[in-house]
Amino acid sequence: MRIVLADLKGRSGFVSKDTVAGGYGSRLRPFSKVTKIYTFLKRRFHDVPSVQMAYLAAIADRAGHEVAYTRGEQVDGDVALVLSSLVDHQQETAWADQARARGLRVGFVGLAASKMPQLFEDHADFLIQGEPEAAVMRLVAGEPLAGKVISEELPDLDGLPFPRWDLLNERRLRFGVPYSGRPAGGGLSVLASRGCPEFCTYCPHRILAGYRTRSVDNLVDELAYLCELYPRPYIIFRDPLFTEFRERTLEIADAIEARGLQLTFECETRLDRLDPAVLDRLHGVGLRAISFGVESVSAETLKKVGRRPIPQAQQRLVVDHCRRLGIVTAAFFVLGFLDDNWDSIGATIDYAVDLSPTVAQFKWLTPYPGTPLWKQIGPKVYQEDWEEFDGFTPTFHHPNLTENEMRYLLGAAYNRFYMRPSYLANYLRIQQAGLRDVVARLDARVAGMHSRREAAEMTRSVTC
Ligand code: SF4
Repeated sequence: MRIVLADLKGRSGFVSKDTVAGGYGSRLRPFSKVTKIYTFLKRRFHDVPSVQMAYLAAIADRAGHEVAYTRGEQVDGDVALVLSSLVDHQQETAWADQARARGLRVGFVGLAASKMPQLFEDHADFLIQGEPEAAVMRLVAGEPLAGKVISEELPDLDGLPFPRWDLLNERRLRFGVPYSGRPAGGGLSVLASRGCPEFCTYCPHRILAGYRTRSVDNLVDELAYLCELYPRPYIIFRDPLFTEFRERTLEIADAIEARGLQLTFECETRLDRLDPAVLDRLHGVGLRAISFGVESVSAETLKKVGRRPIPQAQQRLVVDHCRRLGIVTAAFFVLGFLDDNWDSIGATIDYAVDLSPTVAQFKWLTPYPGTPLWKQIGPKVYQEDWEEFDGFTPTFHHPNLTENEMRYLLGAAYNRFYMRPSYLANYLRIQQAGLRDVVARLDARVAGMHSRREAAEMTRSVTC
């Protein structure tokens, strides 16, 4: 059988699918000068191939089938598996219609097809619901899949073959950029675990399957295999919580060192799952960047959405230690929680600037289908176009803010964070006390300019 794997390139803006927003995906359409540059950089550094597709390629190849891969063009084959998303589902279903007209059987995989089957069912022969590997193993063993196909989560992730990047034509050019953790061209994604053990009510990462980890041996075998194929690879651990277990994290570091693996990597985690000793150890075996959610400065706001707050002292400890080691820090913030208002969002933006990670991403609270938040605020949702659930577009009637204010505050967050001298100083890793004093004085002047412009545009400034 010839199996076509379709991971279609997004149509407009910068679209990330795969594991982004759990698989619903995000789309950033630039809405200011700052976000134009931000989007440009995202395209250069964050357009990485799908690890889900690489797993399916490995499963199909292991069973003796031919694999074809496409980012958009129609390809001959017997069956096509299309990576679904919310933010680009219209293009995906149009591609599926064409493929079916050419005689292929088409199935969708991913979170969107699992939780929003109504968007895909008229365009497919089958929809795989759940993590796709178990169902695809049945498909390649000869079972004709049809309709909604429940795919049970695999209890033993070590039984999976390693993702086959070569079958996805993975030969892109990568090169290091000074001071940036991730090379231009991205890196190779690795999943050391699946799901997330936390309970944040707005998060789509935890609604497809339960939390499971791979054994350290199996994980490091994959890293060794990648080092053989792609010397000195840059690894992107896509787990939402890579350092959940301290001992396991240290075991991974020990194993990378013991096997002499020459690699660099980044991971995502919670800041209460890191400390200076763990950071030192990970940095010693190649850690170059971390990403983490701060979400809101307000502990009360976080508690209301099931997120365990992390003391600010701990957040500063980790970010400052990373700065000393030269590890890039990328912080995520969510604006528009239900008890947010102009002032509380201003306080979160203020905190982002004060914490001063290397980079920050601000998104608007999005009620994703299948999450507890969706159940809570579904009736307030006015947005009917599911492609607008992209993380940057207001989708529901906020109790304290107009849509105009919401859009303004999101733009202001990017302006305030990126248009200040200390952003550049952090990026360039300038640490000398004298220079930092000068930068702090310049920051204060720039913050005053932001305030005056905001007051002129909205009759009030975003932060005091
Ligand atoms: S920590 Fe919370 S927001 Fe992050 S992946 Fe887990 S459930 Fe989602």
